This record gives sequence, C-alpha cells and structure tokens, in this order.
Amino acid sequence: MSDFPTPATDRPEHCENALLTVDLSALRQNWRLLADFSNGAECSGMLKANAYGLGLEPVMRALLAEGCRTFFVATAAEGERARAVSETAAIYVLEGLPPDCGELIARARLIPVLGSLEEIAEWAPSGLDAAVQLDTGMNRMGLPLEQTLGAASAIRPRLVMSHFVTSQTPNDPLNERQIAALAAARAAFPGIPASLCNSSGIFLPHKPLLELTRPGYALFGGNPTPRGPNPMKPVVRLRARILATRDIAAGETVGYDATWTATRPTKLATVGVGYADGVPVGASTAPGKPPAEALVGGRRCPLVGRVSMDFIVLDVTEAPPGAARRGEWVELLGDEIGVDELATRSRTIGYEILTRLGPRYARRYV
Ligand SMILES: *Cc1c(COP(=O)(O)O)cnc(C)c1O
Repeated sequence: MSDFPTPATDRPEHCENALLTVDLSALRQNWRLLADFSNGAECSGMLKANAYGLGLEPVMRALLAEGCRTFFVATAAEGERARAVSETAAIYVLEGLPPDCGELIARARLIPVLGSLEEIAEWAPSGLDAAVQLDTGMNRMGLPLEQTLGAASAIRPRLVMSHFVTSQTPNDPLNERQIAALAAARAAFPGIPASLCNSSGIFLPHKPLLELTRPGYALFGGNPTPRGPNPMKPVVRLRARILATRDIAAGETVGYDATWTATRPTKLATVGVGYADGVPVGASTAPGKPPAEALVGGRRCPLVGRVSMDFIVLDVTEAPPGAARRGEWVELLGDEIGVDELATRSRTIGYEILTRLGPRYARRYV
C-alpha cells in the first residue's frame, strides 16, 4: 500500500458497490518505458483533466518519485493543484493565458503555453517563462506559422511546441508535414528546446522526439500503437458488485425500451454501475458492434440491453457456477479488458473512458 490519500470514505470495502483501483507502480513503469523510448529527450507527464480522471495529486507524486520533473496541465486551476504538490516542478498550462489572468498564473509560477500574438504581448513584459505553441495543422490552439517571426521578435520562450493531428496513424503523410513545419519554424528560435510528441508520437518511425516528449494516454495504460499490441501496463482496474440475479425465459426483454430480447432461457446479473459512473451509454447492446463485456469469475459475459444511470445488466448464463451471485465482483476494466477495448465496444475512445471514470467509485491507490 502507499501513503497516497484515499478518498474520504471509511466504509468497508465489502459495502462498496464499485471499486476503482489505480496501480501507481504500473504508472511509474509506463513513465519509465516512455522515458526510455524518448531516447535522450526529457519525458514529461501530462496531468490535464485531473490526470485523465485518475487523480492529479497521487499521479503527480508517483511520477515525481520516478524522476519526472516537467508536467502539463490544461487550466490554471489544475496548475495550482500541481504547484501545491511540488514547489520545484516545471508546470506548463496548455490553455495558455486567459485575458487578465497573468497575475494568477505568475503567482503559482506556472508556465503558460502561449498561442497568439495577443497572449505573447500580454505576457512578454513580465519577463517570466513561457512556451510558444505553433499551429502545424491542428487548427485548435497555437500560433499560425506565418506569425512565427513576429512571435520570435517579441519573446524568448523556454520551449517551442506543436501538437500532432493523427500520430496514432503512423503512415499518414500529415505526420511528416507537421514534423517538417515545426523544424522549419523553430529556426526562428535558435537554442530553444522544442517538443512535438504525445504518446503515439513517441512511437512514430520518424522518431520526432526533439528535446521533450509529452505523453498522457499511454502513461495511464492506453495503447499508443492501436494497430499493434499494447506496450503499456494497465493502470486502472474497475470492479463492481452484482446486486441481484434472475432467470428469464426466451422472449423476455431487458431494460429501458426493451432493446435486448433473450433468445434462450437466460441468467442475468444486475451490476451497480451505470452511465452516471462513466459507463458509456454507447456500451449498450446495439446492432453492428460487438457487445461490451465484463469478467464474471474469469469468464467474459456480455452486457445486454441499455446502460442505465446506476445499473448495467450482464448475461451470465455462461459464467462459472458460483461466480454470478449477489455480492460477487465483476471486472469491467483490468488486465484482460483494457480501456481501448471498452472504448471500441462503446463507440468512443479510451481517453473518454478514462476521463469519465466516475466520482462515485471508491478509489484505491496501490
Ligand atoms: C493531451 C495532449 C498531449 C498528450 O496526448 P496523449 O495522446 O494523451 O499522449 C500532449 N500534448 C498536448 C498539447 C495535449 O493537448
């Protein structure tokens, strides 16, 4: 066990309906692997969205213990939380500089990622550290490339960065175009470190590692190479409790709007998690996609009918005897079923699965 804070609950584990376990040692191994793959470039840690839903503070402490010194957050509020964890870490704020918020950002010694000449003009007089983000194709945040020289004459940033559009597709020509665009633009910032790679970028054959990498998803167990096996260790384990079981006859339906009909005598188990906990409604039975599954006594059992707010229902007819009983645990995420699989079977992406992991789960950090 660890000295990380556990949530404000002293209910015994056997009274929890659902338990989310975050494996901080797997997280540290993932960061170590990504740092090794960064091949001499510094490897940072992405902490935006409460560290992809897993808890900014415990995740940051674990990464600090593994040697990570540079972090990215989305907002100044997240930056303040990160600053409270470490006095000395470099903390970049991806959303940059909201109008008139410079003082707040400076007070927490955060480093705004500036993405427009306006932001640069507002921040530059402070003389404080900043990053400049160049837009090489995302068209979301970042300075248009034709303004690069204007930016370079107004500020000497600590970091120049850009962001990949489609790094999970290694052979997309867009990757090469973005790598070349950043290489050309950074010539305006001689001697300044540059950064381009998110998780999947680190695994690109072009190896555009530059001086700093910025992995997020892969740290938390997501597959950065979705066309191949997942090199990362699973970090999240989600187990939930069977609340009730019943046997139904062929022809009976399950759940709201009767979207699933039994074709044989069927044993059902009702489990105490639902969309209010972040189980996507997209995990419901639907034509044209494989069913979402949970492990019941080690056997995969399909989710049937619609996900409701606080419940899902599994077809446990094939579960091993004794496993599908009131009070037994089922596993929705873990070694066997990863975030990428649940995402595919819910018609979403693993990032959304992680960031929506519900506040109602009892959380354990191990
Ligand atoms: C979210 C984000 C990352 C991390 O991306 P992953 O795909 O989760 O590794 C890196 N850089 C920027 C600018 C981001 O917004």
